Amino acid sequence: MSEALPGQRAGTMDRYLSSEHIRLRDEVCAFAREAIVPVAPHLDEAAEFLWDNAKSMARRGWLGIPVPRELGGMGLDTLSFIVVVEELAKFDGSHAITVAAHTTLGTSPIVSFGTEDQRRRFVPPLASGEVLGGFGLTEPGAGSDASGTRTRAVRDGDGYRLDGSKIFITHAGVGEIFTVTAVTDPDQGTHGISSFVVCKPTVDLARAKELGFGHKDDLPFTEGVRAGRKEDKMGWRASDTRELHFEGARVPAEQRLGEEGQGFVNFMRTLDAGRIGIAALSLGLAEGAFEAAVRYAHERRQFDRPIWDFQQIQFKLADIATDIEAGRHLTYHAAWLKERGEPFSKQAAMAKLFCSELAMRATLDAIQVLGGVGYTSEYEVERMMRAAKVCEIGEGTNEIQRLVIGRHVLAEVLADPALDSPPRSSRTTEAYSY
Ligand SMILES: Cc1cc2nc3c(=O)[nH]c(=O)nc-3n(C[C@H](O)[C@H](O)[C@H](O)COP(=O)(O)OP(=O)(O)OC[C@H]3O[C@@H](n4cnc5c(N)ncnc54)[C@H](O)[C@@H]3O)c2cc1C
Repeated sequence: MSEALPGQRAGTMDRYLSSEHIRLRDEVCAFAREAIVPVAPHLDEAAEFLWDNAKSMARRGWLGIPVPRELGGMGLDTLSFIVVVEELAKFDGSHAITVAAHTTLGTSPIVSFGTEDQRRRFVPPLASGEVLGGFGLTEPGAGSDASGTRTRAVRDGDGYRLDGSKIFITHAGVGEIFTVTAVTDPDQGTHGISSFVVCKPTVDLARAKELGFGHKDDLPFTEGVRAGRKEDKMGWRASDTRELHFEGARVPAEQRLGEEGQGFVNFMRTLDAGRIGIAALSLGLAEGAFEAAVRYAHERRQFDRPIWDFQQIQFKLADIATDIEAGRHLTYHAAWLKERGEPFSKQAAMAKLFCSELAMRATLDAIQVLGGVGYTSEYEVERMMRAAKVCEIGEGTNEIQRLVIGRHVLAEVLADPALDSPPRSSRTTEAYSY
């Protein structure tokens, strides 16, 4: 058995985590206690973007964790990114999604599918956290069915003219660099969808300039790209979610990401990676709520004893502890596969599905354990429950995750001759032979 590392906490999985991962996690924990805990309730209530902490996280390098050093990132592995998102989510979902969406949705498509020139121009300001990035796929008529994209990109001289609207785009207001999909050939179905890098100034220019973070003067801002209405959300209220509109926006051809017609496939690959981030975020929410419930159950006395002594309370928390351990295995394993360059689409969908449903169960159970105070904003568990719900919806709803998993398992079984069904009669005999 491996020896416990300094600072290692109960439930830590040292099969996956190195001492560097644990040091990074402890650094995030210390930051969260000092900088997130005091402000998160207010930011959530006011639905105010976490500008100050976004800058602090950028300074620490957390907006570019898995991005290669030569592109301005920290050059760390996928698991380092997962550990940071998980730890942030233990304290606040909005902080965690800011790092997760910026990294997997905003930055990674350009790292993965960009030309050398695109990577050099757009990745360093994102990875260093100079500006925030986002990903525009969802439209009013294209949610789960992204093939319903209506935004058009029409050839116009040596570039394209984009017209259309995206909705629910994380960082559409505060961010400056976006990868978005648009139809270049309506006759080709999903093969007629392409993707583009577009830039627009942040909506909060005064704040960004005052902070010295969130705006870069010399980006190729495209006229006709603008942020729309801000969503009044149930959770993740300190994260910025808005419409993104294209009104005759002229985008040069050198800002097309990948070949024409590759946008859909590339976005699906991006979402695979994003789902591991949502799994980590969900896991962190479950852990945060679980720890709050354990602490409370130990302190709160009724019938002359701590409520922890009641089996109904202890069993509820024992079940959540077990699921957290399972969720961590799924999430870290998916990250490990990605890091090794192996297929991870099925495992990412499983991790996202399991952990987001776990986050919902854990936060609701935590509220139950806390009783009346759990239902008030005095304790953080109600904020965590509101944050958990969107994890079952974003980056592909859980119904869609089940479709993805179903598609994989069917293909795997049909492709494996060893799993070929024996004749029904012998199968029945075998099934009852012991
Ligand atoms: C806070 C937030 C942030 C977001 N950030 C981004 C972002 O940065 N970029 C971006 O592009 N998008 C973003 N989204 C959009 C998100 O990805 C979509 O909301 C999600 O994919 C679901 O699409 P929809 O809302 O249109 O729901 P719909 O697709 O209309 O689904 C409605 C219901 O029908 C079910 N359903 C649909 N099709 C099927 C099917 N085939 N089988 C079974 N059930 C089905 C769904 O599971 C769901 O329960 C964000 C959303 C939220 C809420």
